[in-house]
Amino acid sequence: MNIILLGPPGAGKGTQARKLVDERNMVQLSTGDMLRAARTSGTEMGKTVAGVMDRGELVTDEIVIGLIREQLESDNAGGGYIFDGFPRTLAQADALGRLLVDMGENLDCVIEMQVDDDALVDRITARSTCGACGEVYNDNTKPIPANEKCTNCGASDFQRRADDNEESLRTRLMAYYKQTSPLVGYYYAKGDLRSVDGLASMDDVATSIASALRQSE
Ligand code: AMP
Repeated sequence: MNIILLGPPGAGKGTQARKLVDERNMVQLSTGDMLRAARTSGTEMGKTVAGVMDRGELVTDEIVIGLIREQLESDNAGGGYIFDGFPRTLAQADALGRLLVDMGENLDCVIEMQVDDDALVDRITARSTCGACGEVYNDNTKPIPANEKCTNCGASDFQRRADDNEESLRTRLMAYYKQTSPLVGYYYAKGDLRSVDGLASMDDVATSIASALRQSE
């Protein structure tokens, strides 16, 4: 099955996507991860998007739709795709619909992860991730272990995202409300939307997502 995780920055989309990859053999397609990888490897595209990302603005539709198209053409996801952080605009949502039709695939479910804004600011400004496996840590609720080794993979490569600061987060939130939140209505009208409480514990959110997916199967 193919699903979208929709929600503001810090809603926990990446964390839940990784759980679904482990448990259901799905393929996670995160445009944020793809763009960060392009920056790290120093491609022309990576250089073009760096400033936009650091400010917390959206990269052009053309670039992100191109990234998703490439992945869909090269991957063969037996367990289906999890779109994480894509689509973020109505144009991206339309493009994704067309790409899936061209592949003879469906969009089965859009999970909206609801989190209040104060919690997002707290989560994001305290967030760090393991550079090796993507495990997410939080200074308050899940601090980096004293031995500085990732609890998931043992690596010692903890990173803070350049855009995880309060100023960039405000811009990212504004981009979410102006450009991405209309997708909630868009997918509701299509009958694909399921909403979960993203503020619950990680395991409870996973349980709510599993039950939403069962209803769409
Ligand atoms: P994320 O890791 O999903 O929070 O994305 C990090 C940054 O990458 C965003 O703040 C945007 O600058 C850019 N980005 C990621 N996905 C998209 C998208 N679907 N459309 C436009 N920009 C994106």
